[in-house]
Amino acid sequence: MLRLKPVLIAVFALIGVSAAPFSAWADLCPEVFTGKPSSTIARQPRLIILSAPSGGGKTTLANMLIKDFPDIILSVSSTTRAPRGQERNGVDYHFLSVEEFKSKIAQGGFAEWAQVHGNYYGTEIRTIKNAFAKGQSVLALVDVHGADKLRRSFPGEIFTIFISPPDLATLEKRLRARGTDSDETIQLRLSNAKKEMDEARRFDKMIINDDLRRAYLELKELIQGQQSAY
Ligand code: ADP
Ligand code: 5GP
Repeated sequence: MLRLKPVLIAVFALIGVSAAPFSAWADLCPEVFTGKPSSTIARQPRLIILSAPSGGGKTTLANMLIKDFPDIILSVSSTTRAPRGQERNGVDYHFLSVEEFKSKIAQGGFAEWAQVHGNYYGTEIRTIKNAFAKGQSVLALVDVHGADKLRRSFPGEIFTIFISPPDLATLEKRLRARGTDSDETIQLRLSNAKKEMDEARRFDKMIINDDLRRAYLELKELIQGQQSAY
């Protein structure tokens, strides 16, 4: 529509029709100029990234999001960390040994991988490729280094969102209330959180996850904007 508009305005000007009403109408009714009803507009698939310090709320928000957007594929990462709580292999993560993980790196199976809090984590490249081939967007939860690598690999297709806790004291409270990590693990995650939060400005958008409902509505609005962009 954006490319078509200046051409039409020029044609209208040539035949003596004022561009002003056209311009206003085009802005208000963009679907009129696609030749298709808005519900069937082909959308450009996106790689949507949620990053947050551990305990920031990205898993909670991602699970809410995929219920509202069933077309978005949630990327199940691989990790060498042990399952915690009720986590299931293949659902929450693909739980791999260090040898399995390294062999997958060697085979070029990851779009990105990083060592986070002493364990390996990686995003499978085939998840992104398969989804894009079907015109579907992918939601990946990765750390700030993973986001950096994906930004370089998928320029123009990536949309990155940083989820920030309101403050570190609240983050610690949430990590303790989650009840899935040892004290030592929590300390490591909190000390890494400070560094991760310094990277927030490199993301396209940041959401403060203070009130969950408000944070989710903000996230939903951002994703709706991306899903209708083409
Ligand atoms: P992450 O995936 O970023 O590590 P989680 O989604 O597991 O974080 O959230 C950490 C804990 O904080 C969970 O127990 C979750 O229920 C809780 N939580 C998430 N967002 C909020 C919020 N806005 N208010 C209160 N508790 C929250
Ligand atoms: P957790 O152990 O709490 O599930 O995750 C710890 C950290 O690893 C989080 O910051 C999370 O974003 C990150 N992480 C999870 N999956 C991936 C991944 O596939 N790639 C990268 N780079 N980081 C990941």
